[in-house]
Amino acid sequence: MTSALPPSTKPPSGPVSNAPRNHRHIRLTSHPTRGSGKPPEIHWGAANPADRGPVVATVTHPEHRNAIGVHAGGYGIYRALAVAAQALAPDHKPDLTDTSPAASIGPFPQWADPGKIVSFDPWGHLVADVFADRLAAGWDIRPTIAVTKARVSMPEVKDAVEAGRLAPDGEILLSAGDVRVTKAAIEPVWWLPGVAERFGVAETALRRSLFEHTAGMYPELVTRPDLKAFLPPIGGMSLYFFGDVAKLGHAETPIACRVHDECNGSDVFGSDICTCRPYLAHGVELCIEMAQKGGVGLVVYNRKEGRALGEVTKFLVYNARKRQRGGDTAAQYFARTECVAGVQDMRFQQLMPDVFHWLGIARIDRFASMSNMKSDALRAQGIEIVEQVPIPDELIPLDAQVEMDAKKAAGYFTPKKPDLVDLTVAKGRGLSE
Ligand SMILES: [Zn+2]
Repeated sequence: MTSALPPSTKPPSGPVSNAPRNHRHIRLTSHPTRGSGKPPEIHWGAANPADRGPVVATVTHPEHRNAIGVHAGGYGIYRALAVAAQALAPDHKPDLTDTSPAASIGPFPQWADPGKIVSFDPWGHLVADVFADRLAAGWDIRPTIAVTKARVSMPEVKDAVEAGRLAPDGEILLSAGDVRVTKAAIEPVWWLPGVAERFGVAETALRRSLFEHTAGMYPELVTRPDLKAFLPPIGGMSLYFFGDVAKLGHAETPIACRVHDECNGSDVFGSDICTCRPYLAHGVELCIEMAQKGGVGLVVYNRKEGRALGEVTKFLVYNARKRQRGGDTAAQYFARTECVAGVQDMRFQQLMPDVFHWLGIARIDRFASMSNMKSDALRAQGIEIVEQVPIPDELIPLDAQVEMDAKKAAGYFTPKKPDLVDLTVAKGRGLSE
């Protein structure tokens, strides 16, 4: 099997040993090993990366480790599986040659405020550069952010060109309807004191809840208060930039933005029970328009499937909505979610504004969202929203009218609130329609 692997994952010779370096006993991480000294310190929010220090969440050199959890969110389990299956050498270190960001982002003054970015490492894309000396000395420090360039092709963009709403310019929007973008992937790195503060809870209470409600997956959360960085096993985010990324961080640059929470059913498969993909596409259109006017467009795509409840819960809720007496109505929309999940929503937008601080954005000129939770969270973090742009009615799919009415009634930004009678009319399709 190893012959199919890229060269960098091949062991030097013979079968891969999945025993940790130099010892075969299980190493418990719940307490510091005797004589190992203090972990390398992290001074979160230090302006200079050398003073800040690297976040080390790799397991190859326990003496360098200063974070709880591992890299790659939930994919860390696949890495463990690859080691167990003897497909990956347990001490493999990535070769970072030529992996540096394809566009420069930061540093911005916001990086030097420990309270502004608490859910990922602002230096995450620059580790190969700013910690080059330690990497050369054998430390295993991994990037938690990567920045690259791409072309994207969406049928909705081509439709917008055909309808005359967008015109190809040959630079950003090409004649075939393809769009040049810069994109970034960000893995979560939670600075626990900062996350606790953002939610208004004590750090010990946050650590205890994370420990207990992950069935004790991370004992260091309660035994190692000295470790304050945590790489949670959750999805991160993808950023798509339209226009010149170098214009970020300048107050005069106008910004258009869509903050989008993942919805696989709609985003990828075009399921019509919600407005997710139409809103995403509408956001992309506004972003292209802004880039063509000399500003920057930004789509923030958060991996928070089904209001961060997950797709199984989401599908259970769909069934409950469509089978309830009286049919699928806006009046019962949130109640059905609450019956199954216990809450209406677990996305908690409190951490979402971090990415704007990371990009040096203090003002969003056109915000393609109707969510009051998103706009409130941004404003609470001091980010100005000049104009909130609702989705045009003609882009709302038929079966999604229930969701749209329910959200408007609950406080979503809209020029016209639905009336009470309207909310009780069944508008969603039945299960077998
Ligand atoms: Zn959706």
